[in-house]
Amino acid sequence: MRIAMVSAHTSPLAPLGGRETGGMNVYVLELSRELASLGYEVDIFTRRDGLLPAVEPIAPRLRLVRIDAGPPAPIEKEAIIGHLPEFVRNLHAFACDAPGYDLIHSHYWQSGWAGTILARRLRLPHVVMFHTLGEVKNRARFGEAEPTLRIRHERTIARRADAIVTASGHERQLLERYYGADPARMHTVPCGIDLDLFQPLPRETCRASLGLPLDRPVLLWVGRLEKLKGLEILLDAVAGLERRDALLLILGGDDRAAPLRAELEAQAARLGLADRVRFTGAVDHAELPRYYSAADVCVVPSFYESFGLVAVEAMACGTPVVASRVGGLQSTVIDGVTGYLIPWRCPEPFTEKLDVLLANPELRANFGRAARASVERFRWSTVGLRIADVYDAALARFARHEPPAGRPFAPEAWEAAVIASGG
Ligand code: UDP
Repeated sequence: MRIAMVSAHTSPLAPLGGRETGGMNVYVLELSRELASLGYEVDIFTRRDGLLPAVEPIAPRLRLVRIDAGPPAPIEKEAIIGHLPEFVRNLHAFACDAPGYDLIHSHYWQSGWAGTILARRLRLPHVVMFHTLGEVKNRARFGEAEPTLRIRHERTIARRADAIVTASGHERQLLERYYGADPARMHTVPCGIDLDLFQPLPRETCRASLGLPLDRPVLLWVGRLEKLKGLEILLDAVAGLERRDALLLILGGDDRAAPLRAELEAQAARLGLADRVRFTGAVDHAELPRYYSAADVCVVPSFYESFGLVAVEAMACGTPVVASRVGGLQSTVIDGVTGYLIPWRCPEPFTEKLDVLLANPELRANFGRAARASVERFRWSTVGLRIADVYDAALARFARHEPPAGRPFAPEAWEAAVIASGG
């Protein structure tokens, strides 16, 4: 079976920890690897953003295909929509020349848009995973409002898809409530984790190799440096800790995140934390287990996470997590067992729970053991098979020709709306 995996706005081979390169990139690549190892032929389609080969083999039965659409250079995520019609045309031409695909699996709403049109043109079933939703981001109210165009398109994509993968029950509820998605087409399958890479390593050795002191508490934050991640709250929380010697490591961020990093550095300086907060920039994914294992606690103070791979990676390394009670984190972190979930977006409750954990090595060890035991359900070999089941369900539904409910679909008008919007 041949899968066209669509990740238009970001390449799964891009370096992680940039402003736009995080969980979705990891997910698309790892899922595709798993499916290829199960015998699927997988082509991942992404927009060409540099002078790289059009087709790049990644593993047996797995390739990356770069599609020309707009300038062959990095561009803002928001600007990509203006090039989506060209992306669709060129992907369509590639697909017509290649031995036929059996199914399209798209990621994020821009690829969902492309996937919806391609599915209709190529007469294929379409599986979509949104990763984040415009309506949900707006409700989290942490920054600029997402354009209504995005939300309108997400609604159409959700209603047209043969299957929708949601990473948590929470995302499923949101899709049903705010987007009118058909519950019978939604499949909740958590994201997978490489549990062989992410496993507990000896803390002392990790600290020594990273140049970290053994006698000071170490807190860890990992991710894309962006406002949604709630780092301001974390800095305020660290300033209030009983342990005045605690170190905070902030991993992630590229040149495009420089303005936010400068803001955070200024905040740390104002709070008198300049020598207790270390910004490392982006760290290679394979290096992360050493950081997670070296840390006493991993903190995820996000305003929203549709899944939150970082929390699961930390738990896989036996490190307790203190996280916001939002989105997918509610289904991964077990409150009072593998860490704590904080229902308020303010620093004091984070400080309180961090104080509890930093003062209790035994509690940390117990949480760490429970954390590792709790992540077995995210093993890729399990998750890959569940996605294969979703494909089977989508193919069966497509074969039964069950049209989605709602108004008739006019893809030409839809394309025209994107072009008219100018992106
Ligand atoms: N990551 C990384 N290096 C970094 C920062 C982040 O490899 O310097 C990876 C991290 O290990 C995780 C992903 O980026 O796999 C972030 O995923 P998550 O779901 O936590 O957040 P998202 O990016 O989806 O908002």
